[in-house]
Amino acid sequence: MTSMTTTGTGARSGADYIASLRDDRAVWIDGERIKDVTKDHRFRGAVQSIADLYDLQCDPALRDRMTFASPSSGKPVGLSFLLPRSAEDLRRRRDMMKTWMDAVGGMMGRTPDFLNVMVSAHASAHELFAAGGERFGRNITSYHEHIRENDLALTHSLVSPDIDKRKAMFEQPGEMVMRVVRETDAGIHVSGARSVATLGPLANEVLIMPAAAKFPLVEDAEAYAVGFAARMDTPGMKMICRPSLPAKGHFANDPLSARMDEMDAVIWFDNAFIPWERVFMHRSIKAVETAMKSPSGPHGSHQSATRSLAKMEFLLGIAYNLADVNHSRFPQVMVQLSELVAFVETLRALLRVAEVDCVPGPGGTVVPYEQPLNVVRAQYPAMHARALEILQLLGAGNVVVAPSVEDLRSASGPAIERYCAGADIPAERKMQLMRLAWDASCSSFAGRQNLYEKFFSGDPWRNAQIRAERYPGAREAQARVWAFLDRNEEWQARINADLPTAA
Ligand SMILES: Cc1cc2nc3c(=O)[nH]c(=O)nc-3n(C[C@H](O)[C@H](O)[C@H](O)COP(=O)(O)OP(=O)(O)OC[C@H]3O[C@@H](n4cnc5c(N)ncnc54)[C@H](O)[C@@H]3O)c2cc1C
Repeated sequence: MTSMTTTGTGARSGADYIASLRDDRAVWIDGERIKDVTKDHRFRGAVQSIADLYDLQCDPALRDRMTFASPSSGKPVGLSFLLPRSAEDLRRRRDMMKTWMDAVGGMMGRTPDFLNVMVSAHASAHELFAAGGERFGRNITSYHEHIRENDLALTHSLVSPDIDKRKAMFEQPGEMVMRVVRETDAGIHVSGARSVATLGPLANEVLIMPAAAKFPLVEDAEAYAVGFAARMDTPGMKMICRPSLPAKGHFANDPLSARMDEMDAVIWFDNAFIPWERVFMHRSIKAVETAMKSPSGPHGSHQSATRSLAKMEFLLGIAYNLADVNHSRFPQVMVQLSELVAFVETLRALLRVAEVDCVPGPGGTVVPYEQPLNVVRAQYPAMHARALEILQLLGAGNVVVAPSVEDLRSASGPAIERYCAGADIPAERKMQLMRLAWDASCSSFAGRQNLYEKFFSGDPWRNAQIRAERYPGAREAQARVWAFLDRNEEWQARINADLPTAA
């Protein structure tokens, strides 16, 4: 169980993280309740991948890059908990997040830095939470300190499931949308479902907030206007996971599926108790409306754009290796590689502009400039889908015939050694690359990644609509167009003056 106090150990190790998952959490998958996610074959690869990230921050060679001194305890704490006060702070934070993302090839969307950054942003804007009552402002600040000092891994779940899309969340049948059902002097009780929580079974706590773009700001939605954090072992709470991604045998067979299935789960609450200290908004439409102004969006996008860059660099690395193994320098191969170069450099530039052009935020903090990060959110899904297509085009038949490690070690091994080798690469090494290309571009893992990129930050169409409605550069550009047209007469007069008059 995780502590509710703020006296923690600071930046923790992988072993600390793994130990923290051994609690009474109710994780269901394939119709059974899992006793220990750290030991179950469907979860342990991803558990180890996250643990490795925690170990990176404890590496003496990396410690200064990955942590900073806690403002309350002085202990080293993860840099993703920083409240950035300059463009340089944003760059430092990105460098830390990129180190984590490079370690997983950008293939895990909900590494703990994602929510660390978002809760830090909420805490910087604690006054917004106070709109629903002073104590909620204090709660978000102390929660930030709590997760920072204990270095907790969070998931979040913003979206309510809908059976009938014609109806609002409070009109859905079956009482299945999560809502407040009771309150006492000690806290609130909630029942119903929230979907989706990626990393849920592998997190320490879940942050429940209203989905900013989707929440109906009407009185009828009051029981749903709630924000809180719950430990994963909260009595009355369970997670129902999707089936795990197929992976078996040696890690080299399924290098991504076996290591990085971060899992997606629906969270069900059944009269689950949440103490007031962990409630950040309660039955207040006004609080939801105000909290939507929290800079957690751009800060979260700073993390996800960093991940996008790491992921595209990793995909580019696979593509260049495929071209090298095949000794292919055909023009169409080079054109495809140049597309990936353009994606990587575009992402890098957008990320950097967001940092350099940061804007003042609450309490002396800075907020990354949102527009370039919005472009990453809008454009990355198409870039990603194209990158997978390029891997398929470059890998072609080699990707499907790549055998497993078990095949290589079988009686067929010598034959495989001959037909699977490259011109100057042994079969086993080439097979590792082909299995990686398969897992990144063709497998269930690749399909889920593609879906994730399209939807992880909400309905892409609704988001695009909001971006277009709120684009701050539009008015100036519009005014410039009207001013251009205003000069029609003047230009006409000037041209007419220069023309020779008719005899
Ligand atoms: C792999 C993955 C991981 C995710 N992880 C998380 C997470 O960790 N935390 C989290 O909070 N969320 C997560 N999300 C959820 C994400 O926030 C939602 O998927 C996203 O907001 C879209 O909501 P939805 O899935 O309910 O899709 P919907 O809103 O149901 O959209 C599905 C389709 O229906 C269309 N549609 C929407 N409304 C209507 C309507 N009224 N009439 C007709 N058509 C309509 C949409 O345009 C779209 O084409 C994840 C999603 C995915 C795919």
